[in-house]
Amino acid sequence: MVPKKIDVKSLDQNGLIQFVESLKQPAFRGRQLMSWIYKPGINDFWQMTDLAKVFREILTKRAYISSFNNPIVERSEDGCVKFGFTLEDKAVIEAVLIPETDRNTLCVSSQVGCAMNCTFCLTGTMGFTRNLSPAEIVNQVCAVRDFLLAEPEENLIGHRDVTNIVFMGMGEPLNNLDNLLVSISILTEQKGLDFTGRRITVSTCGIIPKMSKLGENANVNLAVSLHSINDETRDLLMPINKKYSIEQLLSACKTYPMAKRRRIMFEYTLLKDINDSLEEAHTLARKLKDIPCKINLLPYNESKGLPYKSPSPVRMLAFQDILRSYHYSVFIRTSRGSDISAACGQLAKHTLNHS
Ligand code: SF4
Repeated sequence: MVPKKIDVKSLDQNGLIQFVESLKQPAFRGRQLMSWIYKPGINDFWQMTDLAKVFREILTKRAYISSFNNPIVERSEDGCVKFGFTLEDKAVIEAVLIPETDRNTLCVSSQVGCAMNCTFCLTGTMGFTRNLSPAEIVNQVCAVRDFLLAEPEENLIGHRDVTNIVFMGMGEPLNNLDNLLVSISILTEQKGLDFTGRRITVSTCGIIPKMSKLGENANVNLAVSLHSINDETRDLLMPINKKYSIEQLLSACKTYPMAKRRRIMFEYTLLKDINDSLEEAHTLARKLKDIPCKINLLPYNESKGLPYKSPSPVRMLAFQDILRSYHYSVFIRTSRGSDISAACGQLAKHTLNHS
């Protein structure tokens, strides 16, 4: 039987070393392979000129290098760009580039759909199809890097490279933890895409048993989607809360293994008359008091078919003022890309229009 070909982009450096050793090759060939795949971005073994010809022949029989080609691209008036990538099984995932003058943040997906069913999120309405492989995660970054390299100067707002990665696209990253960890390893390895962990943020809705494993195995930032400090409200917004209550979640945050001076980012989407009362702001401030953290307040992005409304700017400022009075770092994140349904909670398969 002919063995199935391996996608080398789903292997981090250790995985590549094990793979080449299984082909009776020395370990350094694994490191050589990695330095061709990401920095120059070579997708053809025959162009890897310092590999022995016989090894390249073996590789073409036993492996392949995947890439995302011809993404669907939608541009927002504010400079955000939404990418739709069609996978081998024809599923479509989305990633969003959020350019600023000093950084280019890429919001990537970790799953096709999502099983978490948060009631304010369009992805949640899709249901869950499958996990993304490490290659499918990393290829979102490679494709957007190539897109930026080819952009005309006049289209660029800041850098010509992706500088920050946030796992806040489709899916719950901790429900795909093994593949997430391999992808983070590829993103942070020097011969890989060479990001520092400080520029990578993984967001979770609170899969408590997996949180410590993330902290122990990856030196990245953690964001926790909180969205309410009241169990009854959070049960309604995020069904995961029925399994892991707010108290359990905050206690997991207190013991989360984190590098010194790092802080957890709590994400709090404000929904009019649901979780934006000033009383809730005071309770939130009191409950977070023993956790090194920052707070992001996000105005809800209204989506057709979902019942929630955005809060008024006055209410958002009042909510922020209360949290600041308890000495938290609190940021109001302006919504980006909402004209192309690229804002938080708006990613879903039917949002893409071919351009
Ligand atoms: S908010 Fe995140 S975890 Fe919740 S349904 Fe949407 S993608 Fe899934």
